[in-house]
Amino acid sequence: MIFIFFLYGLVFGSFFNLVGIRVPVGRSVMTPRSMCTACNHLLTARELIPVVSYVWQNRSCRVCCSPISPLYPFVEIITACLFAFAYAKFGFQLPLLKALTLISLLMIIFVSDIVYMLIPNKILLFFTYLFLIQWIFLPASMKMDVLLAGVMGGGLLILMAAVCKGGIGGGDIKLFILLGFVLGLKEFLVTFILSVWLGALGGLLGMMLGKVKRGQPFPFGPFIVVAALLVLFYGEFIFTFYLSLFHN
Ligand SMILES: [Zn+2]
Repeated sequence: MIFIFFLYGLVFGSFFNLVGIRVPVGRSVMTPRSMCTACNHLLTARELIPVVSYVWQNRSCRVCCSPISPLYPFVEIITACLFAFAYAKFGFQLPLLKALTLISLLMIIFVSDIVYMLIPNKILLFFTYLFLIQWIFLPASMKMDVLLAGVMGGGLLILMAAVCKGGIGGGDIKLFILLGFVLGLKEFLVTFILSVWLGALGGLLGMMLGKVKRGQPFPFGPFIVVAALLVLFYGEFIFTFYLSLFHN
């Protein structure tokens, strides 16, 4: 069963690449079929197999030989692992649906923020609808908690953005508000703190490696994505760990 989720993850991951690449520039996700970004050659069934095609074709287009971005197989493999992991952790229960929806949202944002430094409203809105539908089925005790988290998270972030003017983009803020709504208040706060830490660490690392110049903007979205995934799977552990830092 885990293997089936892994395979689904590969296929969905390949679709998330497509969505993350096309939606921000206003292109349809349905037509045309996937094609090479360099020569527009329509991919045949054999060229559409996640990861396998990439390796098989020696990481380049079969027709024009231009290199294919490693982002594609990376997203496919990570999505596959996350889908399998989500099933292993949550089993066939309602939380699995939430986890899979959240993973989908996060992977699409990961792609679009890395490629365009953009978190499209269309994506956020679409997933807001999906989460709203799931919210209806939540137990009454949790309904208020996640609503409160969304509102408080939003307020906190808009205040922050107003105080430090820039640094955090509008798309990031909207994503955080949605995450608050999806994860709940405590988990939202942990995600927020974690993503700031990861972002600072990533920026520092980028500067040390000479990839990022001081003051140059870099996408913050991927750090939010990693933080939210860690919280989805290890939220309780991270929260306890964080509190223990202040209690000793
Ligand atoms: Zn090509």
